[in-house]
Amino acid sequence: MGQQMATTPPERLMARPAAEPHGETGAPLWHALPHHDVAHHLGVTADGLSGGEASARLARHGPNRLPEPPRQHPLLRFLAQFNNMLIYFLLAGALAAWLIGHGVDAGVILAVVLANAIIGYVQEGKAEEALRAIREMITPHATALRDGQRVSIGAHELVPGDVVLLEPGDRVPADARLMRARGMRIDESVLTGESVAAEKHEEPAPEAAALGDRHSMAFSGTTVAAGQGAAVVVATGVRSEIGRIGKLMAEVEPMATPLLRQIDGFARRFTWLAFGGAALLFGFAVAFRGHDWADALIAVVALAVGVVPEGLPAVITITLAIGVRRMAARNAVIRLLPAVETLGATSVICSDKTGTLTRNEMTARRIFVPEGEVEVEGGGYKPEGRIVWTGAAKAGAATQAALPLIRAGLLCNDAQLRREADHWSVEGDPMEGALVTLAIKAGLDPAAERSSWIRRDEIPFDAAYRFMATAHEGPGGEKILFIKGAPEALLPRCGADPALWGAHVEAAAGHGERVLAERAKTVAQLPERLGFDDANEGFRFLGLVGFIDPPRPEAVAAIAECHSAGIEVKMITGDHAATAVAIARQLGIAEEPLAATGAEVDAADDEALVGIARRISVFARTSPENKLRIVRALQSTGAVVAMTGDGVNDAPSLRQADVGIAMGRKGTEAAKQAAEIVLVDDNFASIVAAVREGRTVYDNIRKMIAWTLPTNGGEVLCVIVAILAGALMPMSPAQILWINLVLSATLGLALAFEPTEPGIMQRPPRPAKAGLLSPFMIWRIVFVSLLFLVAALGLFQLSLARGQGVDLARTIVVNAIVVMEIFYLFNVRYIRGSSLTLTGVVGTPAVIAALVVVVMAQFAFTYLPLMQEIFLTRPVALLDGIMIIGVGVALMGVLEVEKLVLRRLGLFAAENI
Ligand code: ADP
Ligand code: MG
Repeated sequence: MGQQMATTPPERLMARPAAEPHGETGAPLWHALPHHDVAHHLGVTADGLSGGEASARLARHGPNRLPEPPRQHPLLRFLAQFNNMLIYFLLAGALAAWLIGHGVDAGVILAVVLANAIIGYVQEGKAEEALRAIREMITPHATALRDGQRVSIGAHELVPGDVVLLEPGDRVPADARLMRARGMRIDESVLTGESVAAEKHEEPAPEAAALGDRHSMAFSGTTVAAGQGAAVVVATGVRSEIGRIGKLMAEVEPMATPLLRQIDGFARRFTWLAFGGAALLFGFAVAFRGHDWADALIAVVALAVGVVPEGLPAVITITLAIGVRRMAARNAVIRLLPAVETLGATSVICSDKTGTLTRNEMTARRIFVPEGEVEVEGGGYKPEGRIVWTGAAKAGAATQAALPLIRAGLLCNDAQLRREADHWSVEGDPMEGALVTLAIKAGLDPAAERSSWIRRDEIPFDAAYRFMATAHEGPGGEKILFIKGAPEALLPRCGADPALWGAHVEAAAGHGERVLAERAKTVAQLPERLGFDDANEGFRFLGLVGFIDPPRPEAVAAIAECHSAGIEVKMITGDHAATAVAIARQLGIAEEPLAATGAEVDAADDEALVGIARRISVFARTSPENKLRIVRALQSTGAVVAMTGDGVNDAPSLRQADVGIAMGRKGTEAAKQAAEIVLVDDNFASIVAAVREGRTVYDNIRKMIAWTLPTNGGEVLCVIVAILAGALMPMSPAQILWINLVLSATLGLALAFEPTEPGIMQRPPRPAKAGLLSPFMIWRIVFVSLLFLVAALGLFQLSLARGQGVDLARTIVVNAIVVMEIFYLFNVRYIRGSSLTLTGVVGTPAVIAALVVVVMAQFAFTYLPLMQEIFLTRPVALLDGIMIIGVGVALMGVLEVEKLVLRRLGLFAAENI
């Protein structure tokens, strides 16, 4: 990068303090000034700012950040918790209770309402915090020139005068004046609303140009759509255009997910149902059973409170938040909460090859030059290894024959090797890094070569045309163009024998090698601007290089896991078909992977593509448009598609996919913005880990529902049956409310922390449209409700028959219900498997903590004089206590037998149980 700056005349490079060329109120005129003047004004040198100057300016100008959107006041957020129809009903009930003199009931209802509001408030805050903290992990970065070095820094560290380097997919980090722009187009729709990307170049724009016509500027928050360039920062933070119009970069994502909406809707309908039922019951109790209307009113209000799962939305939010945190620990950063759920339903993963399925550690292994085939020894980026003729020794040194190609590969290249002790790594593209290693093995000095062959211009690599070109001026004034790229793009029109070279390509690709072709052209005059026409005619074919890039071992395991989990894996790559198929075979994507090329995808109409997308597991030489069509075709079969991407052109397919996954390392800002998930380590195995967590979250939510609904149902059935039968009520209204209060905040929440159930990746993905209440869940709810009913009423009648009196009988019933809830919780921890295992019995710390709280609360409820007075409870004798626990054990036994029977019948094999 240093070379490009070197073209700036030296007199322009004197450091001068920054001063803005406009008055206090006038608009900045940076766009109308020649870029040399701008650089001059801002004291920019060819090396960019020095570290010291940058921090001095940072202190003066402040960080390059826009203020966070104002958050709602905590009190308002707390009050919002009460803005819910159910709560209105509850408050009305409390008022009614108080008016008719049931102070205790009114107090307990208020306590329930308050407890739920507090839990909801805290949990919502935590979920938001978690998302925010995790998003910090993917804050935008910018590439800047500091002390002559190309460095990646946080966009917030930029100051006026910084030189930033822009590439396709970058989000422009600050307002900047272009100093150099090559084929640059910038999407400025966030700022101007204009959807067509604006052409940019470094010539001054007219002074009066409107924002959208300032072709010499790159504005903060816009996205580079194409080309390459360098620009000097002129305004940061709130002083940038986007800051001035008060647009906020930090978008606030809605917290609602399809599941939460489903639950919300369900809770709302259920509320109506519950209160409708309660009204009927009230009428019945007063009219036909001669209950006192005030008592009956309070009873049905308590019932309605008991039956409605008002705590569920809050508990589900926290389950999702826990999922987000667990996924972040596995290197998958969730940008949008709904992705947590969708991941669990993923049925097809379309993945990039290079770097995601492979290690992206490339080594040049084989070279074909017109004189013959050359082998390169050594592995990794360490530049040690001989370069020798393959097979029978030929005359002349192999290195000598390959040198023109090796030098071209070094010069048509942006990568740098880094050495730390004995560890060599690459800054930049791994394949280009491998070319640098190759050059050192051949005895070249990269720095010396690059400074004596000055690069004058370039066409950057783009997946759409698959080559890169550079123009150089040599030490003796030689002028030469180099191109490197995919063989198909480079073989035509350069006189090379397509059959011979094509066979070489096939041979190398068949070994899973990535093949690169190179050509060169000596010219009398370098073109003013390197264009596609210059890249086409009159070249010498230099030869081919084959690179190995071994598959990631963890990707092999992850693909096997996908297969057992009923998830299809498809490789979508820009690489050669034979290379892709060889790697796919090594990865175990399929025994004999079927491949299609981008050209075949182009040729197929939408209908034909559906069949292709189903059958084929390797898509080679694809374009970003191909990806979009493949996602659509797969989705039309009902599949839930996860798709990876990194380039600016991948944004549409990432958006289209059910789960868009952007690469954290090599991914562009544009891809990250379009994705639901960012993979911190670019690793396929992390996608599968996230799917597993997604399934766990969904499982845990279903466990909560499976636990909450039947326990509410059992409690309510008891009272309904009692009223219908005209019998004594087995619980007082206040006691019903107590059960609700003590359990909703403790045991149900504990299920959010459940670890992954064994075998979760051995079942097929859940159907996308499946509702939460499967036939099995409905069966469970009814069955357990009935068991609760029988046990509670049985204990009540038994106690009465033993002459223990109504108060004691009710105390026993309340304790029995809570104990049964506890045992049922342990049963539900494994929806399918047996809970009678060591881990099943021990539980998680969350379960234990909840258990301790509930047990203490029940002891207080039963034995504390104050509580006895409030809830009319009586101390329970030891033997009765043992009997209560026995009932819980019996319930657990029955339900374990039920699971066993269902397992034996094979009913759990169904997709959505
Ligand atoms: P992938 O899906 O494997 O990441 P790419 O779209 O990055 O594929 O690359 C496709 C082809 O383009 C490669 O096989 C290679 O021949 C060529 N290519 C990749 N990177 C470069 C580069 N930096 N310069 C020139 N050619 C490249
Ligand atoms: Mg690539």
